[in-house]
Order: sequence, then C-alpha cells, then structure tokens
Amino acid sequence: MPRPLNVLFVSSEVEPFAKTGGLADVSGALPQVIQQMDNEIRVMLPRYGCINERKAKLHEMIRMKDITIPAGKEHFAASLKSSFIITAHSKVQVYLLDNPHLFGRQGLYVHPETKKDYPDNDIRFTFFCRGVLEMLKHLGWQPDIIHCNDWPTGLVPAYLKTLYKNDPFYKDTRTVFTIHNMAYQGIFPHVAFSRTLLPRELDSEDGVIAFGNLNFLKAGLVYADAITTVSEKYAEEIRSSEEYGCGLQQIVERRKNDLTGILNGVDYAVWDPSVDEHIPQRYDIKSPDLKFENKRALLERVGLPCEASVPVVGIISRLADQKGFDLIGELMDELMKMGLQLVVLGTGEKKYHDLFEKAARKHPKKVAVALRFDDDLAHLIEAGSDMFLMPSRYEPCGLNQIYSLRYGTVPVVRATGGLDDTISEFQASTGSGNGFKFARYESGDLLKALQRAVGVYADAPAWRKLMKNGMAQDFSWETSAKKYIQVYRSLVRK
Ligand code: ADP
Repeated sequence: MPRPLNVLFVSSEVEPFAKTGGLADVSGALPQVIQQMDNEIRVMLPRYGCINERKAKLHEMIRMKDITIPAGKEHFAASLKSSFIITAHSKVQVYLLDNPHLFGRQGLYVHPETKKDYPDNDIRFTFFCRGVLEMLKHLGWQPDIIHCNDWPTGLVPAYLKTLYKNDPFYKDTRTVFTIHNMAYQGIFPHVAFSRTLLPRELDSEDGVIAFGNLNFLKAGLVYADAITTVSEKYAEEIRSSEEYGCGLQQIVERRKNDLTGILNGVDYAVWDPSVDEHIPQRYDIKSPDLKFENKRALLERVGLPCEASVPVVGIISRLADQKGFDLIGELMDELMKMGLQLVVLGTGEKKYHDLFEKAARKHPKKVAVALRFDDDLAHLIEAGSDMFLMPSRYEPCGLNQIYSLRYGTVPVVRATGGLDDTISEFQASTGSGNGFKFARYESGDLLKALQRAVGVYADAPAWRKLMKNGMAQDFSWETSAKKYIQVYRSLVRK
C-alpha cells in the first residue's frame, strides 16, 4: 500500500466559491476524488469579494496583520479563511487567502462592468503565489505536491526553485503545473518583473520573460517539476504549432518528457439528469423520452414556441474568439433557414453579444439569448436541448460537450483538443459514434455537420440510438484522478 500523499491544489477558481469557466469545475471536483483515493488534499484560492462569507461558511484561520507578503514595493497584510467542499463521500479543506485591498472585489480578473483587466493583476497574483508558500509555513502543513493551475499560479514553481530553494520546510515538495488554457498567459510589461522579487537571473528569456514581457504561464512551464494539460490531443497541439502554443510552443516542446495529457472528468453528482436538481423532469438512459418535458420547460423559460420536430440547439459558453462564434456569425442566415431553434447562454465580448441579440430580434421564434452567467439555466439548456454546439477554434478539453453526452444532448463540435478526444462521428450504418464533428475551421464545414445532425434528428430510431450511445458513456473523475496521482508519485520520494 503506497503512503498517502499530502497535496495542495492551488487555483484561482473553485466551485462552489468562484467560477468563470471550466477551471472552477475541475478545481471543485478533482480534489474530492483524489481525497477519496486515500490522500490528504487541500485547496487554496484567493478570497474574492464576490464570495459570500455566510453562504460559503467562511471561518477565520489566520488573522490579518499576523503575516505580510512582499509584492512590489509594499508588504501586504495576509489572512486566511477556511471552508470545506463537502459531498456525500468526502470533505476537502479549502483555504482562502485574503487581502481586501487586492481581492475584495466582485470580479476575479476583470472589472464586471468595464470588462477590463484589473490594472494590478500582476501584484494581485504575485501576492497570491508568494502568499500560498508563506501560508503553508504558518500552517505548518508540508505538502509533497503543490498542484498549480493556469497562469495565476505560475509563479509558485518559480519561487520554490529560487527564493525557497534552501528552505528546509520545502525540501521534499514538488510542483505540478496544469495548463487549462494556453492562450491566457498572464502577460505583464517588463517592469512587473521587479514586483515579483524573483532573483535577477530569472529576468531573461531563459527565465520568466517571454518576448520582453513578464509571463506567469511561462514561469509555470519552466519551473514546475511536471506539467499536465487537460486532453491528450491538446498536449500534442500546444507543442506542435504557434497557433495552439501561443508563442510558448518551443518551451512546451522542450519539456515534452515531463508533459502528460489527462482528460478532465465530470462530476456526475452535479451534471447528470437523473439527479439534477435544477431541471423540472429527471431522466436517464432508460427513460430518454422524459427529456422532452425539459425541452418544453426550456422553451417556455426562454420564450420560444415548442415543436417536437424542430431540434433545439444549445450553446453555453464564454463568448470569446476561442469558441468559434465567428463561424456561427457567417452562417446565421443559413441556420435560420434550416428549421432549428437556437438557445444561447453566455457572456463575453460585445461583438458576440451583438451578434446573438441581433439574431434574436430578427428571429424571435427561433433564437433566444441570455447574456449573463446563470448556472440554473445552464443545467436546463443541457437537459432541454437536442443538440449542443461547440465549433471552437481551439478547446483544451471542453466540459459542456461531455456534460451533454450524459443528458442525451448530441454534441456538434469542431475536431480540436478535447472535443476531438471525446466526440466521434455518428455512423448511421453501424450505429456507432456519439455526435457530429468537422475538422477545418470553415463555416461551410460547420454547416455540413449541422445538416448531418438535423438529417439524423428526423430519423427518430437513429437519433435515439445516438442519444443512448452518449448517455451510456462514463467520463467520471476516477480514471483521470488515478493518472494525476501517478504523476504525483513519479515526483515524490517513495
Ligand atoms: P471554458 O473553461 O473554456 O470556459 P469549458 O467548456 O471547459 O469552457 O467549461 C465551461 C464551464 O462554464 C461549464 O461548466 C459551463 O456550464 C460554464 N459556463 C460558461 N458560461 C456560462 C454562463 N454564461 N452561465 C453559466 N455557466 C456557464
């Protein structure tokens, strides 16, 4: 029996505390499963102003003024709150690192109204990364592994390999850095380097500087002991091309022997129509017809007429260039001729808000849009749609297509990253496959994939087979958690 590992999981988003995208889902679910596999895992995130103290059941652990963290020219007072992620099978300790001046704001990274990055994000996440290491020492809890996620945590490995190199407390601590999205790198003008207080030798293109700027993601890639990313396909993509590697492909390539692709899993306690508390009608693979009640409810909620023969295409997404909405923009007129309905939930770039709002105004019986973050509606769209559309330009893993499978909502996707790893084209002749996909980033190819989907939808027995293929699949976290533990074990003393 291998010894249990102590793991600190560090993330800037964790369900149910703070979420803008899939990172939060992963950070809320994966630690539970690693804990259930007989390890001691704790989670740390910033204590944002949007986290409600009462709802999140926060308790004071280490008081203000007890500790200060240097960042730039200042020392910021740091305190620690604690809470738990509690489920039927596990209880995971969560720490929230607090400095009200830096984190007592509603947004995580951007101002909610202006949508602009906070101008002091470098200081905020410098404080966070350094604060993680200082707080552990105050807690006296020595992790074997610090598992860092995405750019906001990228300086942790760099600090450990430099300022804390000779610190006996961290003698046996190793780091894993997971890339959830290579396009968000935490890039700051060169002057920000001095604010990190990292040693001068890192101030170079061999260190944490990329193309003349401070780059948090690069710091993680260079200094972590192991690197993972969230699908096998994306692991290949980010080291083989400028487009996917976003300028850092050579660094990833250099570290290819330390890089593992591990597909994200699904928390089926949250995303499964047989237990989903957000939907009016529960159902499962034995009762797929009951799904229709959710379609009716969804269309009523968003104000569209309900017609069984008209397929409903759902979209739930950050409205960002990554997600392929320019292809939908090019096709909108064609789509409206196809006899389908479109339900869109998302927030993000104004040009996409305008695109979908305009379509909804022009086609009030065919298009409904909700331009906000709404977890409740997200569940109803999963349950009430017939198809789920993700034509992403790139997609590290993608979660909604995997959620859709369990809901019998057939994914139509572009073959990239995790979308390619999880979705296979339906073959009417053999009855195999779980969705529809297209390879080239071309609106004509997306249109053809949707036409194939609509064609099969009209063939009720074939569609039912397709739905059931997806509903039968199991993407629970256990398989992936075992792979993470393997990575952890490859780094620690036995
Ligand atoms: P990404 O991490 O790139 O945003 P993923 O598909 O990995 O994409 O994860 C997206 C997660 O965020 C899913 O849980 C999805 O339901 C959720 N989500 C995205 N936009 C919204 C929104 N406007 N309202 C509710 N949930 C959303």
